[in-house]
Amino acid sequence: MPTIINMQSSKDIIIKAHLLSEGTIYLPPNIHLPFPVCRSTAGPGAGAKMLTLTFRHHTVKLQISPDQNTPLWLDHTADGYQLLRNGSPILNSLIPVYVPFHAPNQLFLNIEPKCIHNCRFCTQNYLPPHITTTGSHKKITHMLLQGLQTPQIHAVAFTAGIYPNTQEITHKMVALTQLVKHHHPTTPVGVETYINSDTELHHLQKSGVDEIKINLQLPTSELFSQFCPTLDYEFIKTMLQKAVTHFGKGKVCSNIIYGLGERNEELYDAITELAEMGVVTTLRKLTITPNNIQRISEITKKPLKSPDAQRIITLAQRHKTILSHYNLTPKTFSTMCHRCGCCDIIPFVDF
Ligand code: SF4
Ligand code: SF4
Repeated sequence: MPTIINMQSSKDIIIKAHLLSEGTIYLPPNIHLPFPVCRSTAGPGAGAKMLTLTFRHHTVKLQISPDQNTPLWLDHTADGYQLLRNGSPILNSLIPVYVPFHAPNQLFLNIEPKCIHNCRFCTQNYLPPHITTTGSHKKITHMLLQGLQTPQIHAVAFTAGIYPNTQEITHKMVALTQLVKHHHPTTPVGVETYINSDTELHHLQKSGVDEIKINLQLPTSELFSQFCPTLDYEFIKTMLQKAVTHFGKGKVCSNIIYGLGERNEELYDAITELAEMGVVTTLRKLTITPNNIQRISEITKKPLKSPDAQRIITLAQRHKTILSHYNLTPKTFSTMCHRCGCCDIIPFVDF
């Protein structure tokens, strides 16, 4: 059955889909934000200066472009900010949001900048050291304890490259989670990582981790072997299944990226397979950056085009239908991307 969307919600997701598809915004010199702009150290646009905007109950994060020819511009109005597209207003009552720790109302830390893997779309190994938030365990602990003092922080999440191995990353995440729970027992903690054994899942759950993201990354094993040649597609699915037994249905999620030549049906099949396990997909549009375009093009052998707004909406609607069928919703998450919502159209949250 098609998903029914009301008129305002429909307009909003069309706007958000266009913003996600375009991805960049220009800030003219007369725009002075009431806070410093932030850089993401993980996720789409990692390494770039980003601006997070909210309108009604939607949130979107755009890469700040220095190019005046960028179609989207931020503009002042008498009572706030508006968005212009090619000089014409398309959205009023925008609120820029200060996001010092990567995601609104979350302290989302990337605790390891290096990775032994080299997934072709990933920028983790290509970020200049001065913009990563990472460092010694002592530095991360200090940043965590300081960040937890911020009143707006309602959740904590950790992501990491895999270095030197999953056991070491799990060990660090366990220690950091115990620290969070010691000082703030009710603050939810999420982790985005790879796992090598049931034992690692057990340690994470026992330390107080509430939610986990283990990324399947791509909808088919064929694409996966091209873009993530050193990871094991079937093993990730096995770990996702086991993760549900530790954390529960609706507390395990997984990124699936689109925009690398896959068909929509392949995405629907992958979302369904994960939903059957009790895993909620984070459906993520590929972000093309100077740090990944060449590595991706070497595989696709053709110019890359960002998925357009119509495809983003079509996928989001089917995503919602599939989740509904399995009685799943991103709203069961208190951390990471389903709670943040900056990079995707989130079923049940955005529409
Ligand atoms: S395992 Fe994760 S962090 Fe490492 S290269 Fe692949 S996507 Fe990037
Ligand atoms: S949606 Fe996820 S990747 Fe995007 S900014 Fe939010 S937490 Fe980061």
